[in-house]
Amino acid sequence: MKEEVKGIPVRVALRCRPLVPKEISEGCQMCLSFVPGEPQVVVGYNATVLAYGQTGSGKTYSMGGAYTAEQENEPTVGVIPRVIQLLFKEIDKKSDFEFTLKVSYLEIYNEEILDLLCPSREKAPQISIREDPKEGIKIVGLTEKTVLVALDTVSCLEQGNNCRTVASTAMNSQSSRSHAIFTISIEQRKKSDKNSSFRSKLHLVDLAGSERQKKTKAEGDRLKEGESN
Ligand code: ADP
Ligand code: MG
Repeated sequence: MKEEVKGIPVRVALRCRPLVPKEISEGCQMCLSFVPGEPQVVVGYNATVLAYGQTGSGKTYSMGGAYTAEQENEPTVGVIPRVIQLLFKEIDKKSDFEFTLKVSYLEIYNEEILDLLCPSREKAPQISIREDPKEGIKIVGLTEKTVLVALDTVSCLEQGNNCRTVASTAMNSQSSRSHAIFTISIEQRKKSDKNSSFRSKLHLVDLAGSERQKKTKAEGDRLKEGESN
């Protein structure tokens, strides 16, 4: 990826490690392939993208956490809307498959999960994290919206972003200390073989600011959170 920062071209590095001996002996397979000459990798069926950095460094903007429909065709449009566009483009090409897509969008603040697609504060205690032996980590009670086209999907993003902004204004810049996770669950079935179900998940994460909270002037909630770090 070649980026321009104030007119200066900057090379963005990408580092991946090879399999370690333990993984090789356990029969693990590489799940990445490399694009020659480009800092680009193609990943397997499940993927998580994390935006990490100090508050103000551009995590939310780069992920698409400030996305609005007017930005759709701008070169500045974030990672999440780009992923959505690309995903539906690929789906359109695979006419011999049937797809079911669901999205969820949550925020974790002060160890509490806020459902950004159904933002009622009363709902928060009903949401819990469980570990399912088959499906792995599951967030029970979280809204999952079925989406049919790219427009539905970016609308969920916009809805969640608005909700996040409202919460942030009400709670003294909450967003810099919260994590937001936009998840796209994809199920793919061959039209000729309905039992050939194949599932994958993409998690797109806007992490809380990486600065140490202890150093900040803290009051109330903020102090409580700073102490626990
Ligand atoms: P963070 O989420 O890391 O705290 P933000 O994404 O909120 O940071 O970005 C901080 C400010 O910089 C925001 O006002 C945002 O609109 C602006 N910004 C971030 N990245 C860009 C960019 N690539 N182009 C223009 N403005 C940007
Ligand atoms: Mg942010």
